Amino acid sequence: MTDPRRRLPAVEALLAEPDIAALVAAHPRSVVVRAVRETIEGARTTGGAAPAEGWGAAVLARVHRLAAPSLEPVINATGVVLHTNLGRAPLAGPAIAAMARIAGSYSNLEYDLTRGTRGSRHGLCRDLLVELTGAPDALVVNNAAGALLVALSALARDGAAIVSRGELIEIGGAFRIPDIMARSGAKLVEVGTTNRTHRKDYEAALTPDARLLLKVHRSNFQVTGFTTEVPATELAELARARGVASLYDLGSGLLLDLAPWGLSGEPGVREGLASGVDAVVFSGDKLLGGPQAGILLGARAAIDACRKDPLARAVRSDKFTLAALEATLALYRDPERARMEIPVLRMLTEDVAQIRRRGEALQQGVGKDADLVAGESEVGGGSFPGAKLPTWLVRLTTRHLTPDTLSARLRDGEPPIIPRIAGDHVLLDPRTIFPEQLETVAGAVRAALDA
Ligand SMILES: *Cc1c(COP(=O)(O)O)cnc(C)c1O
Repeated sequence: MTDPRRRLPAVEALLAEPDIAALVAAHPRSVVVRAVRETIEGARTTGGAAPAEGWGAAVLARVHRLAAPSLEPVINATGVVLHTNLGRAPLAGPAIAAMARIAGSYSNLEYDLTRGTRGSRHGLCRDLLVELTGAPDALVVNNAAGALLVALSALARDGAAIVSRGELIEIGGAFRIPDIMARSGAKLVEVGTTNRTHRKDYEAALTPDARLLLKVHRSNFQVTGFTTEVPATELAELARARGVASLYDLGSGLLLDLAPWGLSGEPGVREGLASGVDAVVFSGDKLLGGPQAGILLGARAAIDACRKDPLARAVRSDKFTLAALEATLALYRDPERARMEIPVLRMLTEDVAQIRRRGEALQQGVGKDADLVAGESEVGGGSFPGAKLPTWLVRLTTRHLTPDTLSARLRDGEPPIIPRIAGDHVLLDPRTIFPEQLETVAGAVRAALDA
């Protein structure tokens, strides 16, 4: 018997078939050729049979996949508000508009319009950050990991940076504080133990080569039980007394007090600054609800040293980020407006009765196989670890489909829907489904259940 793989058509032969040749009119020839090659290759690896739907249809489907953008919007039905895998913070309307306004045009990114001379991108969000936080100075870079790298390089290069063993964290995505420190040129000196670090531990490590005391917010886990840590206020005071710098990595960048909505325990930006450390570092796209960015705030000398550090150039922000960050920050001038218009804050503080109403609408839209159950949403993004936000979940019960099959079908939709799986159920959390997406989700779920 001859191997069916030897009877596979040649690339040129398929390209000459009328329905495939017609594709070249609507798509770049290179894309059609790649689709043909990959379709043949796909048939070869699956035993050599022609695609069940026919060569023309298989090539067409592949052309569509190749022509579609690989980065696409998805619907987050997980209830994790700051989902790092799903792009963290969706932006507020004014931030989106600001990015679009800058994108298609020249801008004064590094141009001083008053003097007609070269300006600095570092001036762009600085004033607003100073106004909102009361910090003497501010610097924005690409992300918080980059900001930490710059600050350690500027404030502790060729010297020792002292940090508690209880704060040597990994944030995810292979971001580990010790690795960052090594790259910054600062020597890491670990003090204390995992659960307890005392002031005297820092004091003992303050040898002549010490340059900085670092405090890192344990953003994605909690230590409970027999624990001690030195508060930032005390570290700042110790650093000042001994003539070394102090730095506080806050992680999340909380500018509003969310305690009235049951969210407490996360150090706010103003609180971090009030501790008296030379500088604080935080993300732009976690609780702040803006674009990916790393923000450094603090004393003029410290921030200026960061600004002048060569690494600040390597991790500088682009114009889209600066436009979106400025527009996001401007919303904070009116805290209530910030809470309502910044999607992350709106979702975190949404009234549970309102979530329930949207859950009911979704459940009714799906009809049979769906019911509404009480549950919990998560803040995510390493913020408020352990915090549980009461929510209402639409629970899908499928006798004929496994939860994995159903969620694969939902992910395959346009736009893809990312649900949560718990045991035998697929769950949809209306907290992170935007109101205008409800109808789409209901329709897609119905179709996935019926298919
Ligand atoms: C998330 C986080 C970072 C990293 O922030 P990115 O903006 O993602 O680089 C650094 N430190 C802490 C404590 C964090 O929680």
